[in-house]
Amino acid sequence: MGKTVGVIGAGMVGIAAASFLQRDGHRVFVLDPGAPGEGTSFGNAGCLNGSSVVPMSMPGTIRNVPRWLLDPMGPLSIRWRYLPVIAPWLVRFIRAGAPERVKAQARALRALLAPSIETLLPLAKAAGVADLIHRAGHLWVYRTEESFRKDQAAWQLRRDNGVVVTELDADQLRQAEPALSREFTRGILVEENGHLGNPHRMVQGLARELVRNGGKIHVARATGFALDGGRLQAIRSDRGDFPCEAAVVAAGAWSKPLASALGDWVPLETERGYHIMIRDPEVTPRLPVAAADGKFVGTPMETGLRLAGTVELAGLAAPPDWRRARMLLEQGRRLLPGLKPSYPEERLSLWMGHRPSLPDSLPCLGPSAASPDVVYAFGHGHVGMAASPMTGKVVADLVTGRAPAIDIAPFSARRFA
Ligand SMILES: Cc1cc2nc3c(=O)[nH]c(=O)nc-3n(C[C@H](O)[C@H](O)[C@H](O)COP(=O)(O)OP(=O)(O)OC[C@H]3O[C@@H](n4cnc5c(N)ncnc54)[C@H](O)[C@@H]3O)c2cc1C
Repeated sequence: MGKTVGVIGAGMVGIAAASFLQRDGHRVFVLDPGAPGEGTSFGNAGCLNGSSVVPMSMPGTIRNVPRWLLDPMGPLSIRWRYLPVIAPWLVRFIRAGAPERVKAQARALRALLAPSIETLLPLAKAAGVADLIHRAGHLWVYRTEESFRKDQAAWQLRRDNGVVVTELDADQLRQAEPALSREFTRGILVEENGHLGNPHRMVQGLARELVRNGGKIHVARATGFALDGGRLQAIRSDRGDFPCEAAVVAAGAWSKPLASALGDWVPLETERGYHIMIRDPEVTPRLPVAAADGKFVGTPMETGLRLAGTVELAGLAAPPDWRRARMLLEQGRRLLPGLKPSYPEERLSLWMGHRPSLPDSLPCLGPSAASPDVVYAFGHGHVGMAASPMTGKVVADLVTGRAPAIDIAPFSARRFA
């Protein structure tokens, strides 16, 4: 007998979880104040990288911070007024970069990420959107031998976790990606990685399939839970109560108050990121290319070339700083010199999104403190698209009462207590 399960949040994580729950025979509804896939899952770089096991906080990361902050084109910015608010998160972030912790985080991430494409494919095929999954690999490029050398600890961590990497010299780089600037002399190709040709359309496609199979999507903002003796009765929302026997918190960067309502304090912050897209670009890479220095990615998509990345620490409420999106165009031109110096506005689109980030780069995935009926699935930071299929599968395992497909101990919300 399936349960009635309410999923809070119609991003890639919520919709993947809802899809796996439905496959297990549960009656599923999803709550979101907006339409499916219009949160952070809308405008990301679309990379399905099993290799993304390197936590954001690594030994020595902090040494780069002053240089990044001083460079207006740098990959990190902080709104200074927000610094007192985010300071405790930053302290935890720095602590998470201790060598032994980094090794454990990478292992946990690998389990979540390695099966990304294989786990997503059956859902995408059933929904008629498998065409969006490309398996062209992912290329990292470096201007100097020095910056390549500086990244070696990260590459060793990937190798230690079973990622197969191919180092490329200048000539091989040119062959792998003819559109690339000659300024780049070193590269690494990871063949196992893939990308989505349109992350928004993927979420929409899966959501449509969910509804076709009897699932419901309601426009509503969850506000809390009705519990009776530790058992869930309903999800409370701005549109009234939705009775259910199990719930999933998958509200991305907005999940913190929902976890608090269940007795779990989590240091969830947002790392804001931007994209700029060029419609009908003069050149486009064959596969996603990451400029390792600038920490952004150029991804070929069905709607144009997407340049996405950077981190801005400014919370959920501050308005976007569109200079950070436009800066990506300048950097993109240094990556792909065939692009034009400027474009008419109608060929560009700009976007800002909220990565849901915990300081140790791991999500919260597992039961809440208040009730085993409510399962957390939020906080996937930089890797939520890639991690969503296995996250969804684990959520279905937990709700259905099976042993989870991977070890979820590292993802417990109680690790911050
Ligand atoms: C610039 C950029 C590039 C990125 N590139 C990549 C990449 O290449 N690969 C990768 O794997 N990841 C990438 N990411 C990260 C990825 O986009 C996120 O981790 C992922 O989208 C998070 O998905 P989600 O479903 O948890 O959150 P979201 O997509 O934000 O969905 C959360 C949903 O919850 C809803 N919601 C909020 N509050 C409530 C409430 N109270 N009740 C009901 N619903 C609520 C919101 O409306 C939203 O629809 C990138 C992010 C950025 C910003």
